[in-house]
Amino acid sequence: MKIIMLGAPGAGKGTQAKQIADKYSIPHISTGDIFRANLKAGTDLGRKAKEYMDQGLLVPDELTCDLVMDRISQDDCKNGFVLDGFPRTIPQAEALDAALSKIGQKMDYAIDVDVPDENIINRMSGRRACLNCGATYHIVSIPTKVEGVCDRCGSPVVLRDDDQPETVKKRLEVYHAQTQPLIDYYKEQDILKSVDGTQPMENVFHAIVEILGA
Ligand code: AMP
Repeated sequence: MKIIMLGAPGAGKGTQAKQIADKYSIPHISTGDIFRANLKAGTDLGRKAKEYMDQGLLVPDELTCDLVMDRISQDDCKNGFVLDGFPRTIPQAEALDAALSKIGQKMDYAIDVDVPDENIINRMSGRRACLNCGATYHIVSIPTKVEGVCDRCGSPVVLRDDDQPETVKKRLEVYHAQTQPLIDYYKEQDILKSVDGTQPMENVFHAIVEILGA
């Protein structure tokens, strides 16, 4: 099963993508996580990506597409994968389709987790992330057991630079201009499914499982 998660930054698509990956035993591929891991490891890619990420801008397609194509050609993706944060532009979607069609495959589902902008801005200000292991939390809906400390690895959790209010506004603008057109793109391919992302997380997940099948 090959799935794309669509939705504005902060719509909860990452949390849902992780749960889908667990339930269906397929890899969770998050381009944001890959860039952050590169940044932590001090690679060139990480340094270049940070310049864009900190301003709420998209990392250029030429830095993004190849790394995803590489990842999905690995053995563990044979039975499918869930893409979280990719594609984010029409050229990225076209590159993905072209790479898959070369091997006679296509995406099965594009799931749009739909949340209005007002809710997003409120949510993002409460988001916290562990800079060490990448785990994400929310001060109200998914709090850490001990305030400010990652449940998984014990490192401090912080408001990421790209979750600062000004950056969030910019990310939303970029989302509407560059990523939202993908909704029509996948509607035309007849693989778009929308779920109401304002519901509690368990209900969003339930709605997704209904679409994908148990
Ligand atoms: P995320 O964790 O998915 O919200 O991604 C964090 C940041 O990484 C985004 O705001 C972008 O700057 C960058 N990024 C992640 N995925 C992509 C992508 N597919 N194309 C371009 N930039 C991306």
